[in-house]
Amino acid sequence: MVAGLNRLARNLWWTGDQEAQELFQELSPRAWQNLYHNAVAILHEVSESELRARLQNPDFAGHVRHVLDDFETYMAEKNTWGQKHAPELAKNPVAYFSAEFGFHETLPIAAGGLGILAGDHAKSASDLGLGFVGVSLFYRQGYFQQAFDVNNWQTEYYTLLDPKNLPLEPVLNPRGEPLVCAVDIGMNQVLFQAWRINVGRVPVYLLDTNRPENEQHFRDLTLRVYGGDSTTRIMQEVLLGIGGVRLLRALGVRPSVFHMNEGHAAFLTFELMREKMVGGKNFADALAATKAECIFTTHTPVEAGHDRFSRELMDYALHRFRTQAGVPFPELLALGRVKPADAHEPFCMTVLALKLSRAANGVSELHGRVSRHMWQSLYPDLPEDKVPIGHITNGVHMRSWMKGTMRRFWRRKLTENLDVGSPAVMAGDSTHFWKLKPEHDWASKINSPEFWNKMADSNFISDEELWALRYKLRRELIEFSRRRLLLQQHRVSQGDFIAFDHLLNPDALTIGFARRFATYKRAPLIFQQLENVVRLTRDAARPVQFVFAGKAHPRDDDGKRYIQHIIHLSKYSDLKGHLVFIENYDVHIARQMVSGCDVWLNNPRRPLEASGTSGMKAGPHGCLNLSILDGWWREGYDGTNGFAIGDDTHPASIDEQDRRDSANLYKALTEEVIPCFFNRDAQGIPREWLKKIRRAMVTLVPQFNTWRMVQEYAEKYYVVK
Ligand SMILES: *Cc1c(COP(=O)(O)O)cnc(C)c1O
Repeated sequence: MVAGLNRLARNLWWTGDQEAQELFQELSPRAWQNLYHNAVAILHEVSESELRARLQNPDFAGHVRHVLDDFETYMAEKNTWGQKHAPELAKNPVAYFSAEFGFHETLPIAAGGLGILAGDHAKSASDLGLGFVGVSLFYRQGYFQQAFDVNNWQTEYYTLLDPKNLPLEPVLNPRGEPLVCAVDIGMNQVLFQAWRINVGRVPVYLLDTNRPENEQHFRDLTLRVYGGDSTTRIMQEVLLGIGGVRLLRALGVRPSVFHMNEGHAAFLTFELMREKMVGGKNFADALAATKAECIFTTHTPVEAGHDRFSRELMDYALHRFRTQAGVPFPELLALGRVKPADAHEPFCMTVLALKLSRAANGVSELHGRVSRHMWQSLYPDLPEDKVPIGHITNGVHMRSWMKGTMRRFWRRKLTENLDVGSPAVMAGDSTHFWKLKPEHDWASKINSPEFWNKMADSNFISDEELWALRYKLRRELIEFSRRRLLLQQHRVSQGDFIAFDHLLNPDALTIGFARRFATYKRAPLIFQQLENVVRLTRDAARPVQFVFAGKAHPRDDDGKRYIQHIIHLSKYSDLKGHLVFIENYDVHIARQMVSGCDVWLNNPRRPLEASGTSGMKAGPHGCLNLSILDGWWREGYDGTNGFAIGDDTHPASIDEQDRRDSANLYKALTEEVIPCFFNRDAQGIPREWLKKIRRAMVTLVPQFNTWRMVQEYAEKYYVVK
């Protein structure tokens, strides 16, 4: 069982399984807290003899055996969706390249939503039994940790990730030594090794240039997520694209399709073409053959989100690559330009990816349309609506986003309603299997409409129960916020002190906002009407409060000013006590917030939020969205399952848009959200509000999850018919 536990801790499957999480927590509650839910580190902390002693306890041993059984069953499952619908991928998998992957709070190698999406994609590929390998970089300092100076200005610091204390396995050669591959960057040959993350049944490989043979600046190439200037950036992308293909070759993986998650990975097409030309193909044939095996997902209409490199930088970064026999460099450079002959046009990774993929997509219906408009110049012969960019709307991996409180609640409900004596269950009818093992069933049922129809049915869960659950979740968020604020308090002077028992009110309508502080997301929009908002928070009968979190990119001073403004309001304005900013946003904070808030606020400058995913995590917790009709919400909102800010249009002028959206936000809040939340009956229950929660569970959860999303990728793009 000790070996089993070690195997379990090194497979991220456990992070999405409630009982497995409770197992590590039970093993050492103190280490669980102090080591921030790091199962591998907890097992290091608990000595072997202590562990053996614990396993003498029949209850604990029973729990361990039960979890390991579930884990082994999951790993060995043969009868999967992938086996049925995409069996060819078992031998020739999808190779999914992404500059970031967000899996869990212990592995902070994602900068934001793009990485979280990649992580959820991998988890669902595993659940569905799809042939899949992920490729990314091992950033040993990860993404930055957020701190603040005395002026509430964001500062960044970095901690070193220790692979030995993480669910990472070194990739070894047959002699048991690290497998080392090489890639040419600039004038140098740069060596790299790789780490394997087990995400359920699928591997994700992280490339790492921290090898003693490399010069220091190349050892540091994989230090940080999107670290440094555009020179570092292009070198990281050369490593990811070209190095990633070489690693897969060295491992003997033969992908049938290369999926570029954003343009960062698009240099992989150069390597695929080089291989084909070395094999004797001419340029045109190599291009056609490469295009036939690549697909591309674009994730943003924001200009800065598309990497562009100067001619000089391309010459420099690909210096050795381009001088290799047979590489037609001018032709390759032309592949990154809208106007191929214009030598002055910078090289754009998105353009390269679009030209070199057999299919491309945006991440919501509106974003697909916006992308077709954006890139129409690449297809001068086609009308805009025929530009070959489709869309697959994003999702989230429900099982790992659902908070423990929620899952325990459903588990108890399912067990209460368990009719073990029924003939079907007695006969072992497989359709009733879930009644016997409700927790195990999460994996297969949690994304289905039938399941949520049942869960949200008032015959199954009464208004009283649902409202009590909402109270409990809100209360937990408030306690979490107070603990975090107390820790944050260490660094501020006496005068700023906030009394914690006055901080946030468990009966107030709690509005959450957390995401990257990119300026187009307009975090402080609601505070444009400061006096009005103060009045809302002071209304003793119908109080409102706000919880904010998020990181600004280290070089984004405007984003940092937004954060500074919000922290100032939380400390020095009349909002003090009714507005908190939780520092160092990550996956764990996200889970606390999307479950504990009543309303999830999203007010991007339309149409710049290509999809957005944090609002999708709210649905299964009974938190309602209040959002601009941009990205996924434009598809999700049906008038009964949450709230819309404005309508399905946006003015051309940014100033006009900001003015209008700010007014509409306030209007929706005061005319719809607040009245609905505080409209209580004689029992003190907001019946209409709960109806919306039920509608959100039924209409949103089965649709905006990564099972549906990955199935769509498989059916539309991965499998060639
Ligand atoms: C879900 C999530 C995001 C994405 O949020 P958006 O609203 O789509 O921007 C970013 N960061 C973390 C930590 C998340 O969990």
